[in-house]
Amino acid sequence: MQTDIKIANVETFLVAPKSIKEAWEDDDFVWPSQLPCILVRVSAEDGTYGIGEAATQEWYLGETTAQMDACLKLYDRALRGADAANIAQCHRKMVAVYGGGMPGGRSARCGVDMALHDLVGKIRGQPVHALLGGAYRTRFEMLTNLYHKTPEAMAEACLDFAGQGFKGLKVKVGDVLLADGWGRDTFLAELAKLEAALEATPRDIMIDADANQGWESAAWTVTALRRFSGFDNLSIEQPLPYADLAGSVHVRNHGGVPVILDESVWSAEAAMQIARMGAADRIVLKINRVGGLHEALKTITICEAAGMGVSVDTNPFTLIGDTAVCHIAACCRNPYPVDCEGHVSFLSLGEHDFITGGITIERGIASLPDAPGLGIDVDWDVLAEHQAAETL
Ligand SMILES: [Mg+2]
Repeated sequence: MQTDIKIANVETFLVAPKSIKEAWEDDDFVWPSQLPCILVRVSAEDGTYGIGEAATQEWYLGETTAQMDACLKLYDRALRGADAANIAQCHRKMVAVYGGGMPGGRSARCGVDMALHDLVGKIRGQPVHALLGGAYRTRFEMLTNLYHKTPEAMAEACLDFAGQGFKGLKVKVGDVLLADGWGRDTFLAELAKLEAALEATPRDIMIDADANQGWESAAWTVTALRRFSGFDNLSIEQPLPYADLAGSVHVRNHGGVPVILDESVWSAEAAMQIARMGAADRIVLKINRVGGLHEALKTITICEAAGMGVSVDTNPFTLIGDTAVCHIAACCRNPYPVDCEGHVSFLSLGEHDFITGGITIERGIASLPDAPGLGIDVDWDVLAEHQAAETL
């Protein structure tokens, strides 16, 4: 077997996924109408290549297109001549040139990490989940995100997605608070949407109420959650700011519903600290926030050893990133619904969709292709047409 796969270069291609999500198109307060996204191609000296997606959100992850592009140029210089199959050493080289001492460059690094896994998998004839240690499953129940702005619209959407076969619904309960600041009336408006969602949704479907850090107060969170104590399909996601793990412990001990942490999980080490403190029942794992599949696998291992669940999440990504999301979700012991339809419900590439292969979705089930690497490719001519047609 060939073991040394010398990296020739890391190339970047700007792409322009547009938001099609309800509430995102007309809400530029925090949710963007176009997302920073760079396609990454890592080529070996024999011409074989792997592809990845460096995608981020400016507000949410504190990164921009220009910043990711600059990181990727540093990684290109650092990785030329390195062995792509030694993914641990490739990460070491990347953190040595950017973001080793503080969080930074994670989404760019994730794009390279995806491409490395794709490249090595293609050369070895193995799917990425096999490189990561093996799949518990290759078909996944799914979760979708609901940003509807009124209780009526939220209830209707919950029924609609339950009917489509989704097993997890992420009900957003922080947007008004994020836009207007914490106030009693705005808080009650968020709670009314959650109440409508819970009343409408069958109990076999999990409701993750996601506050995106907007509830701010541990005490108010506990008080508010008491009104939902009869709903055993409810979990509360990231009610408090990402660094407030002590507050999260308080909510977990007194709120009466399971606590999910999302923005708090920005590295395997952060997951370890959450586990030590007993600050969560489950985490949301975003592969770009932790720096790729290599770091995600460490995070999953820590969580499973600590008895914490793992829900794998899109950025949102295009089909490239969402396929990578399913490869890491395959490595999670417990089958929590996977959020891998960023490319369906959040984003559109317009008329020049240059991605081929990847996961397929039917009746609320996502399926990985049976193919080496990520199981996905790019039509480079159509990509050029996309780049010519869009404002990049
Ligand atoms: Mg979240």
